[in-house]
Amino acid sequence: MITQTAIDTLRKTEIGARGLFIDGAQTEATSGATLPVTSPIDGRPLASIADGTAADIDRAVQSARKAFEKGSWSRSAPAFRKKVLTRLAELIEKHADELAVLGVRDNGTEIGMAYKAEPLSAAGTIRYYAEAIDKVYGEIAPTADNVLGLIHKEPLGVVGVIVPWNFPLMIGAWKIAPALAAGNCVVVKPPEIASLTLLRLAELASEAGLPAGVLNVVTGRGAVTGEALGLHMDVDAIAFTGSGPVGRRLLEYSARSNLKRVFLELGGKSPNIVFADAPDLKQAAVVSANGIFRNSGQVCVAGSRLLVQASVYDRFMDELLSATTRLKVGDPLDLTSDVGAVSSAEQLDKNLGFVARATEEGARLVTGGDRILTETGGSYMAPTIFENVTQDMQLAREEVFGPVLGVMRFENEEEAVRLANSTVYGLASAVWTANLSTAHRMVRAINAGVVHVNTYGGADITVPLGGVKQSGFGRDKSLHALEKYLDLKTAWIAL
Ligand code: NAD
Repeated sequence: MITQTAIDTLRKTEIGARGLFIDGAQTEATSGATLPVTSPIDGRPLASIADGTAADIDRAVQSARKAFEKGSWSRSAPAFRKKVLTRLAELIEKHADELAVLGVRDNGTEIGMAYKAEPLSAAGTIRYYAEAIDKVYGEIAPTADNVLGLIHKEPLGVVGVIVPWNFPLMIGAWKIAPALAAGNCVVVKPPEIASLTLLRLAELASEAGLPAGVLNVVTGRGAVTGEALGLHMDVDAIAFTGSGPVGRRLLEYSARSNLKRVFLELGGKSPNIVFADAPDLKQAAVVSANGIFRNSGQVCVAGSRLLVQASVYDRFMDELLSATTRLKVGDPLDLTSDVGAVSSAEQLDKNLGFVARATEEGARLVTGGDRILTETGGSYMAPTIFENVTQDMQLAREEVFGPVLGVMRFENEEEAVRLANSTVYGLASAVWTANLSTAHRMVRAINAGVVHVNTYGGADITVPLGGVKQSGFGRDKSLHALEKYLDLKTAWIAL
């Protein structure tokens, strides 16, 4: 685990101006333009990144295509790809302190969570796909005797990766690692407010022996670089995590350009359902508070709708309030902080807009609701709970992506299922009950990519992550994710 002394040293490091990473080297944007990077910890300038444009995306895609055609990665032995990716995982672990602090200065996640969720989990993901790739076999079809039907698995070509700012390294690795392991070449478009760790990842990949052009990173504004990547005629697939509106645009870009395949991991409004027979109400309350408030609620699977059975409602709410008020919000680079900064001043304003609307619509504020620690100059928000939330309110329907919880009560299982499934999303969920049959019925009844039972959040690389309904499609993580980055080709051979 990282120490406070290491953090205090690393937080003073100058970052300066960071360029794009194309064809194995740092380079300026074609226009020479840059974007300032502000730290949400104190609202002060942190660094600058290159403000890429369509011309830079084109340079990166050309470099990726050239590398793909050359074959030194795409047609290399899986054992070689495994060796390079394993070395990359080791380098990330070696630089874990540096990457964790760099990421936190950029996006404000509390360091305790960021250290595990960003460098360590990215390294684990890369190692997992490195280990997997030399165990992927083609197939021989069960044909008649006079033919041989072979099914080859081949990389797609050039894959575009677009990720959000909450966990750029972890989410980036969920896409970059299987895409590279499968032999593809990749162009990454990081989120404009949290690009620094992905730029560093590309440097480490080069040090690990990844050939030039195989992994490129083009920073810049989403509406410019993201659009250019989505519309590019020579990109074969886009793997995206982010908001619904941008996901829709990517489908449009695909339709308007070359019909590239698009994989979407979008938002959620995940129900966390507490039955009266939950094994331990106090523990359920502590885990539920963490499940919405860690990383200031900026977690796609956050349990942002809490449904509590009426018979234990008051008791559970007391426990929840006490667990929530014990959370220490503060400097994300202080190991004792449970919750860090909101990623940007804009996101904080958006969160406060949700609070104002919930109040107007008649929900009751139980705790929080305001900006705090203003003297730091940073963006901090008190963990916020609203009760008496009804289905017609914005807070019950729309994703905040901030530390704002809406609570509803229910009488019975049927009502819990109806409320749980009554949004356009279907990403995550949880059920707290000691009854095995209730648990299994709920797992079947809830429309979501994951149903947690007697816990909230938590998973590892061995299981898929993704949503149903408007939470998207395509899965990150597990061996299933590899399939997205491999095409099938049939050889039909007359004997
Ligand atoms: P966003 O959609 O605004 O941005 C995501 C990425 O898309 C960024 O890199 C951005 O620069 C880029 N982008 C913006 N406009 C674009 C355009 N016109 N064309 C192409 N790319 C464009 O999302 P965000 O605010 O960065 O992240 C928050 C959202 O991400 C939330 O909805 C959250 O639920 C979701 N999310 C989902 C998961 C998941 O696994 N399902 C995980 C984390 C976050």
